[in-house]
Amino acid sequence: MNHTDIEYLANPDGSRGYAWNLYTGCNHWKTGVCPVGENCWAKSMAHRFHRSFEPILHPEKLLEPLSVKKPSRIGVCFTGDLFGDWVDPDQEVVYENKYGFTQHHLRASIFNTLKQCYQHQFFFLTKNPKGYSAWRHFPDNAYCGVSFCKSGGYTGIYAHMKELDAKHKWLSLEPLLERMPQGVLENIGLYDWCVIGAQSGRHPIMPKIEWVKEIVEACDKTKVKIWLKNNLRPLIVSNLYQCGWAVQGDGNLRQELPVRETKLEDLEDKCPHGESLCSDCGEKCAQRKQECS
Ligand code: SF4
Repeated sequence: MNHTDIEYLANPDGSRGYAWNLYTGCNHWKTGVCPVGENCWAKSMAHRFHRSFEPILHPEKLLEPLSVKKPSRIGVCFTGDLFGDWVDPDQEVVYENKYGFTQHHLRASIFNTLKQCYQHQFFFLTKNPKGYSAWRHFPDNAYCGVSFCKSGGYTGIYAHMKELDAKHKWLSLEPLLERMPQGVLENIGLYDWCVIGAQSGRHPIMPKIEWVKEIVEACDKTKVKIWLKNNLRPLIVSNLYQCGWAVQGDGNLRQELPVRETKLEDLEDKCPHGESLCSDCGEKCAQRKQECS
């Protein structure tokens, strides 16, 4: 896995988090699902490095998170959309693990990796939340997000996110391009965490301060954690006299993280099946071996 500079994926110890790009590419920019369209950051990066932006699975990456032992934050497929209509979670995938070649459904392969890496937090994100339904129940260290930028069409998105079978859900309002409708503000308590940012890149667009304030107030009412991206700093600085709600005691922007409900200390000596573990991750857990072999 590569490190990522995405600020909210920084690891608990402050080091850079990781990008797990096991599926790259996305078609949303040309189908209208994504309002960012041609301004897609992942698409421009792919073109810059002469890579295709057509969706493609990289099975050789399925076990990559196992090589990171220290608790980390991992963004899953941020250079594409794992929940696009082109992805079939029941697809059979063949890949190599330490016991030889193995074959599983894509869903089981990814979820097995999450379960084995219980020390990490995995952040999923999509512009197509109806795609979550085919994935069924997510492991508890999955944080399933939806990205929403404009004011229209939230009713359907909310219905899909409510149905989503995951313990942790988050909302990415980045880039925030319009004032959020009441449906978003009134139902924001569905999420653990809300990220707000401006559009950066070649065509930067700053949201209005009152749009951001309304969202933060709605989050505070329902105790949803807030992350204001650093690209909002010029907006906050130019409205500083009325932005006490946007800054922390240390003078930085409010940048809170979703709480891990299970403390790592409680997990250190145990795998998800309650068996004791060696520090080399799983060697003493027979059930785990069965799952991933
Ligand atoms: S959903 Fe994400 S990866 Fe896909 S086109 Fe939009 S911004 Fe790009």
